[in-house]
Amino acid sequence: MSYVDEVYALVVEKNPAQPEFHQAVKEVLESLRVVIEAHEEEYRRDALLERLVTPERQLLFRVPWVDDKGQVQVNNGFRVQFNSAIGPYKGGLRLHPSVNLGIIKFLGFEQIFKNSLTGLPIGGGKGGSDFDPKGKSDREVMAFCQSFMTELCKYIGADTDVPAGDIGTGAREIGYMFGQYKRIRGLYEGVLTGKGLSYGGSLARTEATGYGLLYLTEEMLKCNGHDIKGKTICVSGAGNVAIYAIQKAQQLGAKVVTCSDSTGWIYDPEGIDVALLKDIKEVKRARLTEYAATRKSAEYHEGRGVWSVKCDVALPCATQNELLIDDAKALVANGCIAVAEGANMPTTLDATEYLQKNGILFCPGKASNAGGVATSALEMSQNSERLSWTFEEVDGKLKNIMVNIFHNLDSAAKKYGMEGNYVAGANIAGFLKVADAMLAQGVC
Ligand code: NDP
Repeated sequence: MSYVDEVYALVVEKNPAQPEFHQAVKEVLESLRVVIEAHEEEYRRDALLERLVTPERQLLFRVPWVDDKGQVQVNNGFRVQFNSAIGPYKGGLRLHPSVNLGIIKFLGFEQIFKNSLTGLPIGGGKGGSDFDPKGKSDREVMAFCQSFMTELCKYIGADTDVPAGDIGTGAREIGYMFGQYKRIRGLYEGVLTGKGLSYGGSLARTEATGYGLLYLTEEMLKCNGHDIKGKTICVSGAGNVAIYAIQKAQQLGAKVVTCSDSTGWIYDPEGIDVALLKDIKEVKRARLTEYAATRKSAEYHEGRGVWSVKCDVALPCATQNELLIDDAKALVANGCIAVAEGANMPTTLDATEYLQKNGILFCPGKASNAGGVATSALEMSQNSERLSWTFEEVDGKLKNIMVNIFHNLDSAAKKYGMEGNYVAGANIAGFLKVADAMLAQGVC
């Protein structure tokens, strides 16, 4: 059996019932096959792949808190510190009822390569809880966040592990967690990113993942002879990534006609009204039915369906495994030319393969959504030098980073004989730097 197949079999055996983690490892190892085979003896002797797929540390803890009725609730807390070869662990905290150890491990594993691709000195980690902030009062969210941080604060710090937001963790949750960290540890430091502007946050961090997605998509289209201007785009999700992806797409002259949440989706042929969407999702924290009720041109549909709409470009920005094989077939049949992932692993492996085989430009999330973590690293730099940069300065650096990421993965794909395969390019470019650092640091 080849080294890649051996290690993948080991992952499945040692991590039962973690299908998302298996999926993420399979995608990465498959596309690294050619690189691994070229260094098989050295990597085997150093157990490089076994170390790469095994987190350095996994923290599982109890999060008790009191709800508004005086009832004690208990959630599970997680932080997986996956790989620190190239810098302190960095990666978001997801608050969603679907969170379990396998999901956090898949996200942490992906984060290693994503962070490496940014060219910045950050290792890979991820965390979260099965707590659901939806429908909770502000006081309940605060009680949960304080309890969560009471335990987590023992293991993180500005130079060791710097968490950030993710699904369910926005500015409100980061604020409560930062306050609790400061209170217990007595340290005012950049231990979290995505902070509010009045206490160490970076301008453009809120917009960064969505904007970065569009900067990379624009470059990918340009390098393949297309102009983003005038293109029709389908976006899924209606959260942080989706909202700012829609906003930047419109600024670049494209028309975005869809968005969605976990209960339904909107088709708005006149183009999504971002101000209205922001008001509903960021201010009122309401459902998309309210969008359709306010805007005449919009249709609301229950369930899934975004990918059935005809478009030139598809940007999945909601969650993992939300673009399935039948969706991929519909996109190809409707003449779509490009898919760039805003979410982490939103496209299933078979759907990815189908899109690639049918000539669709496909950029994986670890490259196309790296703008969020890259700007988080810029927030860390500003915190370290006790300075704040302007919006334009941060946005300019973000754009450069995203354009560089695209060229790095494009070159890596070409160098290893897989021109146009951006999944392979991203995995190879991300892996080489981490592998080099791990080998240089000896057995650890
Ligand atoms: P938000 O919580 O702000 O928004 C998530 C959106 O996706 C919401 O519209 C939500 O709908 C929808 N959604 C969540 N779960 C499901 C589901 N199971 N089925 C259908 N829709 C769902 O999260 P973000 O925008 O921050 O994150 C979106 C994705 O982007 C995630 O994969 C995240 O890991 C990734 N990402 C985020 C970054 C960031 O900076 N925020 C950085 C890099 C990646 P509803 O409100 O109904 O739950």
